[in-house]
Amino acid sequence: MSAHPADPVPHTHGHVQAHGHDHVEDHAHAGDPQPAVRLEGLEKRFGDVAAVAGVDLEIADGEFFSMLGPSGSGKTTTLRMIAGFELPTAGRVLLHGHDVTRLAPFERDVNTVFQDYALFPHMTVAENVAYGLLVRKVPKPERETRVADALRMVRLEGYDRRKPGQLSGGQRQRVALARALVNRPRVLLLDEPLGALDLKLREEMQLELHQIQHEVGITFIYVTHDQEEALTMSDRIAVFNRGRIEQVGAPAEVYERPATKFVAGFVGTSNLIGGAAATAITGNPGLFTVRPEKIRIVDPETPVGDDEHAASGRIRSVVYLGPDTRYHVALDAGEELVVTQQNLATTSTEALAQQGRAVRLIWKRQHQREVAEAL
Ligand code: ATP
Repeated sequence: MSAHPADPVPHTHGHVQAHGHDHVEDHAHAGDPQPAVRLEGLEKRFGDVAAVAGVDLEIADGEFFSMLGPSGSGKTTTLRMIAGFELPTAGRVLLHGHDVTRLAPFERDVNTVFQDYALFPHMTVAENVAYGLLVRKVPKPERETRVADALRMVRLEGYDRRKPGQLSGGQRQRVALARALVNRPRVLLLDEPLGALDLKLREEMQLELHQIQHEVGITFIYVTHDQEEALTMSDRIAVFNRGRIEQVGAPAEVYERPATKFVAGFVGTSNLIGGAAATAITGNPGLFTVRPEKIRIVDPETPVGDDEHAASGRIRSVVYLGPDTRYHVALDAGEELVVTQQNLATTSTEALAQQGRAVRLIWKRQHQREVAEAL
């Protein structure tokens, strides 16, 4: 990944104006009927490797959009083609209706925030943030106002004279964000920007990023391999696998109605049952999934409602997780289901004592989803 400290972009659009303390944005472009980003038949080959193997996608103006997928699934390459760091082998990239496929990065109204921040260590926070404006010869008074606005947006007022070495990881991340926001791009690309932070800070920053995006109204395109992160922050998510998108949807949609086996497994616990076991349980050999929190564990003789499915089995293992317990249940029909239960009134001793118990698992038919084997 190349370091692009400022991505100087010609400033052609006047938006993102901070007023007073709450940084109310100028919604000059909000509700633009043109999608902020449109990808058409996008492909990228590196020799024999099809890093991106045909992606069609529309991202609306003002959306917080995540590209989620495992390592090597083509998320970063797709992002780099939107930024202009990579030229597609086939297909087109349109930004707000304009074909930018062949334009250089600085000719596109986008900025990128990288995981490694790429801050200049010898410059102060304010100088780092001002750099892109300096390159574009923005006059000093405007520069100072915009830098102050950007630092306020990322809640770093008062840190302008520090050097990156005197900041925490989370603060450095905010400087990187301010440095992109100061250019007022219409689209901000973020490549695993929280990857270097520890879990607690990452969770805090997830909420902050979501809040900041909401305040500035800029389209955010966020690359991550962390499903929880994508579910927490996004308006919509595209799930990538082997250079293709397997599903696009709102977080709840992708989680509750996974389209494919891959999506069911990558976003949450897979709990997939197919073939003979599926026939025995549902009367249908098709592959299905049911989320662990939707399953109840009851005594083997408990009656099953008309709107429910049930499977008998034995608790093979119990994992006590504090607020929840995870039960792995080996089904009599073959295969296994994972069940999570909140420890509302259960102690750890009670939970762990369940191991080996013969049980019936019951779930509502509406919580079961048939999924495709592949795209
Ligand atoms: P990660 O989360 O690890 O960054 P990713 O989903 O972003 O993964 P990409 O970085 O887009 O995936 O890579 C997709 C595929 O393309 C991988 O198999 C990768 O090895 C390959 N690839 C990426 N960049 C290059 C390159 N410059 N030269 C050759 N192969 C590349």
